[in-house]
Amino acid sequence: MVGLDSKLSGAVGGRTAAMLHRALGVETVADLLGIYPRRYAHRGEPTPLDSVPEGEVVTIVGTVVSVSSRGFKNRRGSVQTVVIGDGRSEMSATFFNQPWRVEALPRGARGMFSGKVTRFRGEMQLTHPEIRIFGDGDDDVPDPAVDVERAKRWAQQPLPIYPATASVPTWKVADSIAHALDVLELDEGDDPIPEDVRAAHGLLPYAEALEKLHRPAVDNDWRRARDTLRYHEAFVLQAALLQQKALSAQSHTIPRRAADGGYADRLDAELPFELTADQSLVGAEIAFDLARETPMNRLVQGEVGSGKTLVAVRAMAAVADSGGQSALLAPTEVLAAQHLRSIVRTLGPELSAELMPTLLTGQLSAAERRKAMLRIVSGQAKIVVGTHALLSDRVEFFDLGLVVVDEQHRFGVEQRETLRAKGKTPPHLLVMTATPIPRTVAMTVFGDLDISTITQLPAGRQGIDTFVVPLAERPDWINNVWRRAREEIAAGRQVFVVCPAISAKDIEEGDDVDDEATDAASRPPRANVVELYESLSRNPVLDGVRIGMLHGRMSSEEKDAAMGAFGRRELDLLVATTVIEVGVDVPNASVMIVLDAELFGVSQLHQLRGRVGRGGEPGLCLLVTRAPRDSFARDRVEAVAGTLDGFELAQIDLELRREGDVLGARQSGGRSSLRLLRVATDGELIGQARSDAASVVDADPTLAAHPALRRALERRLDEQERQFLSKG
Ligand code: ADP
Ligand code: MG
Repeated sequence: MVGLDSKLSGAVGGRTAAMLHRALGVETVADLLGIYPRRYAHRGEPTPLDSVPEGEVVTIVGTVVSVSSRGFKNRRGSVQTVVIGDGRSEMSATFFNQPWRVEALPRGARGMFSGKVTRFRGEMQLTHPEIRIFGDGDDDVPDPAVDVERAKRWAQQPLPIYPATASVPTWKVADSIAHALDVLELDEGDDPIPEDVRAAHGLLPYAEALEKLHRPAVDNDWRRARDTLRYHEAFVLQAALLQQKALSAQSHTIPRRAADGGYADRLDAELPFELTADQSLVGAEIAFDLARETPMNRLVQGEVGSGKTLVAVRAMAAVADSGGQSALLAPTEVLAAQHLRSIVRTLGPELSAELMPTLLTGQLSAAERRKAMLRIVSGQAKIVVGTHALLSDRVEFFDLGLVVVDEQHRFGVEQRETLRAKGKTPPHLLVMTATPIPRTVAMTVFGDLDISTITQLPAGRQGIDTFVVPLAERPDWINNVWRRAREEIAAGRQVFVVCPAISAKDIEEGDDVDDEATDAASRPPRANVVELYESLSRNPVLDGVRIGMLHGRMSSEEKDAAMGAFGRRELDLLVATTVIEVGVDVPNASVMIVLDAELFGVSQLHQLRGRVGRGGEPGLCLLVTRAPRDSFARDRVEAVAGTLDGFELAQIDLELRREGDVLGARQSGGRSSLRLLRVATDGELIGQARSDAASVVDADPTLAAHPALRRALERRLDEQERQFLSKG
């Protein structure tokens, strides 16, 4: 009997299974059926040939316009040329030494042609396409003269088009799936969705949904199937997250309470300011969590400068009161060092001497590292700050009670788990993020965490004014930008200038510059750090201004030196890439100038803006753009200038960005490989699935009474594990 978890070889035969495994990484029947069609074609309606992208493997439904064969002049062999048409355009495909093609491809025959689109002598063509002529092989072509209705149905039947690879054309995938569906035995009990939930939402039974998605008779079939499977995806995902949450709530850990008159109390007493109401509230939530015997799993989100670091340090002091250690994991060396400095500053000299905040990064010398590790394993260091070096096997804690992760989206879940495994009992977890997370993303990516939000900024913040500098209409305004920078510097303040590229040739690696925002061909050269640094150094307006630069291709020492000099006010103006985006804290910097601002994401611009206006001076952010008025790119820049509300911008960003950016491995830690779900548009569905899944998981956390759902969760984990393994 073939079930969802059967090996593919049992369903489609060993050779096909091996081929599918090689090309698509699938192992089981469930994996294969989980390859969803990218779209559906119709025999009657050809794919527009004029829109096929160069360089990609595509599948075209079209008609053979002509076919010819000729020999070469100077060497042996022959070449066959097939011209495929869709009534409007034509494209040719070339074969070598396959004269039989002339017979096999009669003029007027319709079929699918699958291959890579390349350009040859200026013309687009399909290279060595795989061809299936309709009516070929087991396709049974009805004769309209015999049965009009059947012929019509045949023409209208949607043909699933699967993501093709060069070695496995879409119909091979379709054939294999058809084989698997033919032998698969599913009954009611295999449906991961409980009966009542299915009825409440009018979902198809699982088996029927799979059948109709892969073998629809009419378009409406796959639409309903897709809706059902989209709900499945949301439900299984939420059940997984909620189960994780429920299981973690069952695990035991050591409660960490602040002692009367202990470190936490002393820290509070020494603060030179009042906590904001949000800081107190979130602090109380954390204190409550820490005092429990189940590990805390909490995400704190708050704008840059909202005082999250202080919230974390208060939690660390409370953990130290109970004898425990805290580890803060930062995404980069620069940020780790900066966190350490600000923790030391926040604690003051006395508490610092007692809690011994200790840095552990890859850059330490062997001797420094040994010293740091000794302090950590002995329990002397109550606070440890580091990069991924903290994850190394050799780092051992005396009693790790709290893990704080800064800027979650730069870490994978695995890394977070590695650090957590260093506690003798599971440590409490606090995740801090300055990127406001729209509710649906939070539910999808952080669905196993409790969420606290800090919305208030500390009193006395001066605010930030943002202006768009529209060079498309006012090219000369760039001079005003430098004059304005000069004025601020003359008044004793400092200026950041951010460019999208490092040098004239390339872009900062791994940064989020959005290539689709502008048309590549018509794009003027991007502002870049190296050239701008040189031209600003020669600009008479900035005569006497001390200028530095910072970008990802400098060595760590050079970067630290530049950041350090800027922090000590030995530089007035820093030309940089987005390396300064995350958490760099220079209170005296009051101006942020972003060049070619339209090339950055909405949230990223907001983050950059958050770098200024952190001291007593109001911040100024100038978004310089060459995008013309009313263009899409310009609208995004205007949106950032239009509001300081990070949540509103995060929502705009979510709607504008490609899904992958929102849930890409970097942000989601690989936890969500969504197929049919779209967080930007399926918020309501995700919320519904979450509450449905909660009723099931709350009543039955181990899913003992829901074996099919339990299997679906296991399958998901297997798949993630495989993805994770294949990454390494
Ligand atoms: P975040 O980590 O959220 O970006 P920080 O914790 O670094 O913010 O705080 C930014 C600055 O504001 C720090 O210099 C910090 O000392 C200060 N700060 C934090 N909380 C308050 C408060 N309640 N009142 C005044 N200043 C505060
Ligand atoms: Mg911070």
